[in-house]
Amino acid sequence: MAVIIDGKKLAKEIREKLKIRCEDLKKSGIQPKLAVILIGNDKPSQIYVKNKSKACEEIGILFKEYLLDEKIEQKELINLIDKLNKDTTVHGILLQSPIPNHLDINEAFRKISPEKDVDGFNPINVGKLVLNQDTFVSCTPFGIMKMFEAYNIDLTGKNVTIIGRSNIVGKPLIQCCLNKNATVTVCHSKTKDLKEHTKKADILIVAIGKSKFITEDMVKNGVVVIDVGINRDENGKLTGDVDFENIEKKASFITPVPGGVGPMTIAMLMNNVLKATENIRINAK
Ligand code: NAD
Repeated sequence: MAVIIDGKKLAKEIREKLKIRCEDLKKSGIQPKLAVILIGNDKPSQIYVKNKSKACEEIGILFKEYLLDEKIEQKELINLIDKLNKDTTVHGILLQSPIPNHLDINEAFRKISPEKDVDGFNPINVGKLVLNQDTFVSCTPFGIMKMFEAYNIDLTGKNVTIIGRSNIVGKPLIQCCLNKNATVTVCHSKTKDLKEHTKKADILIVAIGKSKFITEDMVKNGVVVIDVGINRDENGKLTGDVDFENIEKKASFITPVPGGVGPMTIAMLMNNVLKATENIRINAK
């Protein structure tokens, strides 16, 4: 039976340490603050923003939500980003995605100051990740790397197969794993014979968004499985992209859904807000 990677417990331990970092900043007269831009009425986005707000409150980070109408023009969005970039009381800026189709999300991410880009989506920060330089790493991949660290899972020389190539999860994960000396394979919707790639994985990271898509016959004995997916099955129960019950018997480590990658993502966002605040203090010296 696999060791269950307890993301909930690990995230709690990380948040406890972040509280202390936040206290230290406050003692030196700096109040960390996160500004979140939410556009329209997308229900899941509203829940994600609420969870981020709760996490900020727990740690002592000020949270300000900017709720914009779904018909907002690009110019107005960019003006708001410019205003937040200039606001010295704001240390982190997050644009909650998805945003309405008529808006250019790439321009918006590009406009967020790299120093306040706590989601790591500005091309400058993406480039720094590629070059293995210190930067803000996108929160879900960052959280996964923290899990490997916490459970002493060394990536050196391992075959890591990532399924999914989104800008938020799959692509930054490629660099994170490469930076840790893994041999990385990336699969996606156009991959031929997916099983051939999943079977050879020492570490399998799945971010597709299809309930229980990865089955027992697709993995080898002793595999480490990281399940990023968040889905609802036919009974409305929250599930990952992996058939947990059956794969757990074969794997050496596995993340559950819920309680795996999800809590780590928010903890890493909080970490990035404090890092942004600390960086500003260091640069001011
Ligand atoms: P996305 O929809 O942007 O991308 C999905 C990816 O899966 C694509 O690259 C696509 O090529 C690939 N894919 C689809 N069908 C496939 C198939 N049959 N075979 C192989 N590859 C296939 O997704 P995303 O934003 O990366 O999210 C993926 C999942 O992870 C979703 O369930 C999402 O809710 C979840 N998620 C969880 C967290 C978290 O913190 N736990 C964070 C982000 C995303």
